[in-house]
Amino acid sequence: MRNLPCLHLRIRRLPLPDPSTMQGRISVLRIPSMLVILPSLQMNRSKKILAVFGSTGSIGRNTLEVARRHPDHFSVRYLTGNSNAELLIEQIRAVRPAAVAVSDPVARNTVRDAVGDLTTVLNGANALDEIAGRDDYDTMVSGLVGFAGLLPTTTAIRAGKSIALANKETLVVAGEIITALAREHNVRILPIDSEHSAIQQCILGEHDADISRIILTASGGPFRGYTAEQLRGVTPAQALKHPNWSMGNKITIDSATMMNKGLEVIEAHWLFGVDPDAIDVVVHPQSIIHSMVEFSDGSVKAQLGIPDMKIPIHYALTWPDRIASDYERMDIARIGTLTFEQPDPETFPCLRLAYDVLRTGGSAAASLNAANEIAVDAFLHGLLPFPGIAEIIEECINQLPQHRLSSIDDVLDADRDARNWTKNRIAKTASQ
Ligand code: NDP
Ligand code: MG
Repeated sequence: MRNLPCLHLRIRRLPLPDPSTMQGRISVLRIPSMLVILPSLQMNRSKKILAVFGSTGSIGRNTLEVARRHPDHFSVRYLTGNSNAELLIEQIRAVRPAAVAVSDPVARNTVRDAVGDLTTVLNGANALDEIAGRDDYDTMVSGLVGFAGLLPTTTAIRAGKSIALANKETLVVAGEIITALAREHNVRILPIDSEHSAIQQCILGEHDADISRIILTASGGPFRGYTAEQLRGVTPAQALKHPNWSMGNKITIDSATMMNKGLEVIEAHWLFGVDPDAIDVVVHPQSIIHSMVEFSDGSVKAQLGIPDMKIPIHYALTWPDRIASDYERMDIARIGTLTFEQPDPETFPCLRLAYDVLRTGGSAAASLNAANEIAVDAFLHGLLPFPGIAEIIEECINQLPQHRLSSIDDVLDADRDARNWTKNRIAKTASQ
């Protein structure tokens, strides 16, 4: 990506709560994108109470492991799952949550039959929202995959919860609305995504005006170095073999297409208030440097670590403190070599498409996200070749009229329209 000399950093500040209405210890923190006065989250108790959304997923499982290893600091009150009843039952037996939400009706019955005496099993379309809005937890771990994360995360923000955000799609589809809502409710969104956790750590203690560039690192995925011709024949099984990270299927395919990095560019824009021209991507196959920030004096800070999602999850849950952990340590001498290369947006057009929709604004990113979710699913089911994912997303963005998003309902409409368009397009292609 190009580095433009002219940078336009937007600085946002949270409205300050009235200290006279707050009790307990008050931390005053100067961080680059916001000046925040926070009441200590642990003021009257020693443990942070978590609601883990998507507990049966990769982020959810890692979060439960972080909580299990630090019982003095975390307690888990709520879990949610979709189809993996077996794992959810196991988690309920281990964690003893006050309630769980299970979205899939078959899984819900299985869970209720097995452990209905240990916890309340909520059902129905509003179960996730109902848990998100409860007042007896501190932090939502937003670990649902895809657009399904938007509504519960929005509810948790409205309820004034801290958000440990893995579900980047929430910011991709509704970044402007979500960040405005977070400001309105004095809610801090702490990134779990390793790149954004790295940026958060690099900018701590710096001034907004001194940040000149964010450099997101990308592993390049399983098809790094492939030509467009080679990509035509790749299979879902090949695409699901990520070289460094073990993650859910959707994000693993997003990593193979480079859409994941595109979504992360959009996520970085909304989290840190940095314009697209000041966000670069560099391919770093070892995934040791999780991202970098360049400052006005030419200094560059990087954050490093082994690729283990427990570390950024732990940081998001303990910020602004650090709590000692025994996760595997990085042995940099053994790693030996760190390499970097330019991304190839010609062969992997999804990265370019993400920059395009970010610059277009309005509903364009919601269209991109919805088309991507449908296209990835179609690829995994053998209905679309790998290059077809980017092709159909580009067509969707170009075909659908884009408009301003004023409310979450507008986002739901944009998402529905793009999903319908993409499904019809795939069905038409399949019948030809
Ligand atoms: P997974 O697919 O592993 O897990 C997704 C979770 O969401 C599961 O608990 C799943 O339930 C649940 N879920 C899926 N669909 C629905 C639905 N329609 N309604 C309710 N619940 C649903 O995903 P990941 O953990 O890999 O990713 C989660 C989010 O975190 C994504 O936004 C991803 O981009 C982001 N992220 C993930 C990273 C990782 O290392 N995995 C790294 C950085 C970001 P069930 O399994 O029971 O069906
Ligand atoms: Mg990431």
